[in-house]
Amino acid sequence: MAVNNVKGTHDVIGEEASAFNYIENLLKQICELFAYNEVRPPVMEYSELFVRGVGEGSDIVRKEMYTFLDKAERSVTLRPEFTAGIMRLIIQNKLLATNELPYKAYYCGPVFRYERPQLGRYRQFNQFGVEAVGNNSPEVDVEAIVLAYTILSSLNLDNVKIAINTLGDDESRNAYKEALKAYFAKHLDKMCPDCHSRYELNPLRILDCKVPEDQEIVKGAPRMKDYLSEAAKNRFNRVLSLLDDLNIPYQVDDTLVRGLDYYAETVFEFHYVSKTGNDYGAIGAGGHYDKLVKELGGPDAAGVGFSFGVERLYSVLKDDGLLPQGLDNPIEIYVMPIGDKAKALAMSVSANLRLSGYRVDMCYEDVKLANMFKRAERKGAQFAIIIGEDEVNKEEVVIKNLKTTEQKSCPLDKLVCAISEEMGDECCDGNCSCHHKE
Ligand code: AMP
Repeated sequence: MAVNNVKGTHDVIGEEASAFNYIENLLKQICELFAYNEVRPPVMEYSELFVRGVGEGSDIVRKEMYTFLDKAERSVTLRPEFTAGIMRLIIQNKLLATNELPYKAYYCGPVFRYERPQLGRYRQFNQFGVEAVGNNSPEVDVEAIVLAYTILSSLNLDNVKIAINTLGDDESRNAYKEALKAYFAKHLDKMCPDCHSRYELNPLRILDCKVPEDQEIVKGAPRMKDYLSEAAKNRFNRVLSLLDDLNIPYQVDDTLVRGLDYYAETVFEFHYVSKTGNDYGAIGAGGHYDKLVKELGGPDAAGVGFSFGVERLYSVLKDDGLLPQGLDNPIEIYVMPIGDKAKALAMSVSANLRLSGYRVDMCYEDVKLANMFKRAERKGAQFAIIIGEDEVNKEEVVIKNLKTTEQKSCPLDKLVCAISEEMGDECCDGNCSCHHKE
């Protein structure tokens, strides 16, 4: 019996793989424009990193991590998110001591969460995101939001709504948590078991509960904005006024708390409803953190970051017809040998053309010429190179322009020049064997 993929994982193939490449390359280019540098932390880390970094009270740590003992009985976890691993990377490599701050990093790769698989929700999916660490100023939070906004605009995702909120500083959050506890204490007996543990570990998390009955209770809960310290209010107002100056549209949502425990001050999400009316919810999200670096054994340094789900971006772009045409890079030349001698020659012809930068495939199966032409067409080739026994003996090939159907014989040593000419490209800088340029 054949073995299938692990439940909740998915194969990325064909057009989807090309689209992922397009999305990731675009995102990388924009991050480089904002002077962020790529980092590639390992996929697995010691479990303790996520327990301390993401927070014991988070759903991720409580029930979604792929954790196992390695052969030396050390507990390791496949990363459920990037931020904790990047903080470890920054601390361990002393990047805050040796760089101008904030240290700005971007990342892209798979993450693993044991969630209930459903449409758009996988157990292995890809995240793209950034972290800017070591500078507490509101300008750095704003730059991260501008970066995310630029990314979404470059992908032509104009329907994005930016929801933003502040979780305040310690003083504000402690006062708010007390107020939430006092409120939820009266309702807890009617709420879901998860909310019971959230009540003990982090009552802010109750605001994020997805159970409809609990959401009704949440509607009557105290609001963060009424518990903000002066300093927290000023900081948030500064963030909002900078966004206004930069014409970044946003909506303040004072119920927004985010699913991870490390956030403080500014938090934000990017929501998307497609033109066809599909509500994708948050396609990306992020926020500011104060204690994470210290919590993980580093210096007292704040940071801000966000991440997008690449699968989610792909679905949205596909749904709204925003993926550019021709992403799958069709081949340019299809080489069609007839017989074993011709096959050997076809391999060296293909190799030479590839060295000159052309996308080339050849036919390895013994099929009729008509069939080979069909294959060339299916692959989107512009030219076919036909090699029969005659051509092998005469050391030449036939080049056929598949659009115009014109064809001509060409000596082997002039092939690259002839193809360059046909393609309207510069020839091989005049050093080629036929001295085409002379
Ligand atoms: P989070 O780290 O939970 O804030 O998630 C950041 C982004 O990752 C979300 O906005 C989604 O786009 C994406 N995402 C989160 N969980 C999943 C999942 N299980 N499958 C696919 N994408 C996800």
